[in-house]
Amino acid sequence: MKKRQKLQRKDLGQAHLMAELGLIDQIRRGQTTRSRGVVLGIGDDCAILRPPAGSEVLVTTDLSLEGRHFRRDLHPSASVGHRCLARGLSDLAAMGATPLAAFLSLALPREMLTTAQGRSWVKGFFAGLQALGKRYGVPLAGGDTAESPDGLVLADITLIGSAPAGRALRRSGGRAGDLLYCTGQLGGAAAELQSMFAKGRLPRVTSTANHPQLFPEPRLAAGASLLKRGFAAACLDLSDGLSKDLGHLCDESDVHAEVEEALLPIHPLAAAFNSEETLRLALNGGEDYELLFSAPADVRIPARLAGVPITRIGHLTRRRNGADEMTIVRKDGRRESLQRGGWEHFSD
Ligand SMILES: [Mg+2]
Repeated sequence: MKKRQKLQRKDLGQAHLMAELGLIDQIRRGQTTRSRGVVLGIGDDCAILRPPAGSEVLVTTDLSLEGRHFRRDLHPSASVGHRCLARGLSDLAAMGATPLAAFLSLALPREMLTTAQGRSWVKGFFAGLQALGKRYGVPLAGGDTAESPDGLVLADITLIGSAPAGRALRRSGGRAGDLLYCTGQLGGAAAELQSMFAKGRLPRVTSTANHPQLFPEPRLAAGASLLKRGFAAACLDLSDGLSKDLGHLCDESDVHAEVEEALLPIHPLAAAFNSEETLRLALNGGEDYELLFSAPADVRIPARLAGVPITRIGHLTRRRNGADEMTIVRKDGRRESLQRGGWEHFSD
């Protein structure tokens, strides 16, 4: 009995290893993006990176867990790969950093490596991830794979970036009197997710454009421009929703924020809902991956940065003890306390 168990374990290990080796070969072959910052990529024990002289290295990790951050029955595999990388790139964008390389740890259910349908899912995942990486010159420079024991896909990505020493944008730079801005439009990702829930099946996607939930665009060029031109006092990316992320900015900068409903740039997909739901999607929807930043009132912010529209949505004031942290001025002039109602993923 003991011998049989051991043999089975060995067989399982070997089958797994072969599949894993095939997968790594596949990733390596699909890896055509080159970066000057990567001296040595996939194939050795470690990758070797060379950040530009005079820069600091920025590191961020993002976990994509099936059932929490995506659903295999609703998100096409290319979207899961795209979103996995986009989330990390958006964190780099938030600090004005330039990406150097990505590292991916991937746990896949056994059938992903042993069935044609599973292999096609994995292929789609990497196609989505590598297409986005190629657009921004971010190679996958290493990672690890393992068999997921519970049938769920788990992708953990690490992004390495660089920024001129001492210049990376932070959440803590906001001051009372600053004006508050965001890039792009709000509520689109949550609105698209709602319609995906309503349809309840895999969407047919022919292009990555105009799919804020499936294929969000990390605002790397806008973030780099904010840093380079010295516009932003504080900056972060909108991953959890405006109300939650603005709360982070208020905490780190020790300020109060006031947002004007009438100024919010609403994504057309969110505007299709009734007005209260539209506002809820814009404030709490999350996953828009736009940038939220503050700038002193005397800094003239252009209408577009790196081709992305910039909208003033409010301002920062002094924080008073015991007062609400954030206020929203409704369209009719009513002032309401803005609560952190950010997106709670799928765990409601
Ligand atoms: Mg972030």
